[in-house]
Amino acid sequence: MQEIRELSLPELREKMRELSEKPFRAEQIYSWLHERLCASFDEMSNLSLPLREKLREHFRLFLPEPVRILSSSLDGTRKFIFRLEDGHIIESVFMRYRHGNTVCISSQVGCRMGCRFCASTLEGLARNLSAAEMLTQVYQIQRLLGERISNVVVMGSGEPLDNYENLTKFVRMISDERGLHLSQRNLTVSTCGLVPELLRLSEEGFQLTLALSLHAPKDEIRRRLMPIAARYPLSELLPAVRHYFERTGRRVSFEYSVVRDLNDTKEEAEALSTLLKKLRDGGEGSAGQQKGFPLHVNLIPVNPIRERSWERPERRRIEDFQHVLEKNGISATIRREMGADISGACGQLRRDYLGEKRCETN
Ligand code: SF4
Repeated sequence: MQEIRELSLPELREKMRELSEKPFRAEQIYSWLHERLCASFDEMSNLSLPLREKLREHFRLFLPEPVRILSSSLDGTRKFIFRLEDGHIIESVFMRYRHGNTVCISSQVGCRMGCRFCASTLEGLARNLSAAEMLTQVYQIQRLLGERISNVVVMGSGEPLDNYENLTKFVRMISDERGLHLSQRNLTVSTCGLVPELLRLSEEGFQLTLALSLHAPKDEIRRRLMPIAARYPLSELLPAVRHYFERTGRRVSFEYSVVRDLNDTKEEAEALSTLLKKLRDGGEGSAGQQKGFPLHVNLIPVNPIRERSWERPERRRIEDFQHVLEKNGISATIRREMGADISGACGQLRRDYLGEKRCETN
């Protein structure tokens, strides 16, 4: 049986035709699913009982079940552990910023990219999330908190571009005016740098903000942190990022996890400045002139995970790194840690939950 939230409005109209229902029913149902964020067919009060029964016979309707919620007493951040319909566990985060409420969602159960500082990948990829499973992380959080979500970042577990079809369907549906109608400009997709998919994304006509996990200005160090760097060196990746900007006009942010004694030196900061200036200015013959490529560096003090030995540098050292970038005309911020009292590396909370459940059943 199909999950009804997987259907776009034209697909839902087609289904209504197949079920010998009037096409306008599709609009009503779509509104219940994607605007009013209903949890069951019973809530669809402007549909007849027989129609609700028919829907129940033909479709599934599921919201992820919150099995643990951690709340920060410092800044209102909430971390959600959700159980999916097939029992898989995922993690989503709600953050309150001055510019609006933001939800960070997962795009896969686990991840196969193998980044060395990330807990989400330690057991590999279990499966992709469907578009509906990405949407309903946002819907469920909005329902539970009763607060409008205005920004979504696809930065939780998983590599979004490794789940391309579902990601693009999710983007279309969450920005649809008949759904939550989130501005695509308030949607950020983070990638570790899958070049073919990035080039493809550039042609979708979206207005997404791209966050590229760079983490080092040299291939050699990048390969130590991210196996994907062996497949796509910077000489292929950065032109693809530039292409994304040229096709969309959208800002690109470069994520840089700062790891003690690995990529936190002054030399690395200088090398990063040189690399990004060259990218921004379009290469040869135009050094020093900004050509409107709005790029930004997010410095992220690495979150140590138990299974790896990376350490976070002292704050002072990260600030020195930031000053070198700024002196060179590259805008950079140190990421504010949200929910410091409930903090943990990306994916660590889910691993802790799964570990506890395993202990309980042993
Ligand atoms: S950082 Fe992202 S892409 Fe890399 S392993 Fe973790 S979830 Fe996957």
